[in-house]
Amino acid sequence: MAEGLRERLQNGVVLGDGGYLLELEKRGYVHGGPFTPEVSLTHPEALVELHREFLRAGAEVLQALTFYASEDKLATVGLGGRVDDINRAAVSCAREAASGSEALVAGNLSLTWGYDPKDPGSADHVRALFDRQLEVQMEAGIDLVIGETFTWLGEAMICAERATQTGLPVMVTMSFEKDPHAYEGPGPGECAARLVDAGANVVGVNCLRNPAHTLPLMREVLEAVPGVPVACQPVAYRTPAESPDFTSLPEFPFGLDPLQLSRQEMADYALAARELGVRYIGSCCGSVASHVREMARALGKLPETDDGIEWRVDFERPMSAFEYYRHDA
Ligand SMILES: [Zn+2]
Repeated sequence: MAEGLRERLQNGVVLGDGGYLLELEKRGYVHGGPFTPEVSLTHPEALVELHREFLRAGAEVLQALTFYASEDKLATVGLGGRVDDINRAAVSCAREAASGSEALVAGNLSLTWGYDPKDPGSADHVRALFDRQLEVQMEAGIDLVIGETFTWLGEAMICAERATQTGLPVMVTMSFEKDPHAYEGPGPGECAARLVDAGANVVGVNCLRNPAHTLPLMREVLEAVPGVPVACQPVAYRTPAESPDFTSLPEFPFGLDPLQLSRQEMADYALAARELGVRYIGSCCGSVASHVREMARALGKLPETDDGIEWRVDFERPMSAFEYYRHDA
């Protein structure tokens, strides 16, 4: 049996996957705007294919696309009654892609947009939303739970509390908008410490910000939870220092293409994260297989070339633009 997340994190760095919803929107399978994940029902083959791309690029964990697969959010596109179907189908797509490999399949919970600390009933409501998703995901077969993209620490704490009940390894990561604090006020370090107290085995930061605007926050996380494995999953978009949250830019969601970071920038990020002490090095929105592959190579998880082709290079008699323009020099 393949090693679990905890053992892998003890033995070294674990490489995560990339972003699903924005890439599947580009490919024509997800509705931009609501970004709900019904693609697992409508076009499961497209979802399996993207999982396979990340796996082939070196990802060691595949996250089931159950982001936003909670009842209230799905109800905004008329799919409130399909929570079980969508969660089950998403896990089975990830399982199908992972089969025959060592990759782990992560169940996934995310912000519900239903948490309101001023409403006394909201915590129990969010609990129920998470429990329902977890029950279906557990039945479908997951190896760990990732709770992500929380801007309310209170909601992330509920996620940690419910996910811990599964007995599986639990990762919970916060997202930080322009102001690098949870809505209630705590910064990245305090959020991480509170989530560890709530039972999370891995804590950190994901989404909204790119590597340059996330790594300084990771420093605070690492200092706050010494000895606890820490995760970083930033977006792969270039954003100005004064607007680090890519979803706040006028280019969101349909004009982001020219802002996408290069694969080399993501490889540099992977190395910087490892140097800092981050154990789970992944990526989020805007990160596609070419980014993950370059991260895998930088971390020594994939050979530099892997196609096995022997190419006769002859700069005197070029038969490629590479030789013609002497790109070796
Ligand atoms: Zn994201």
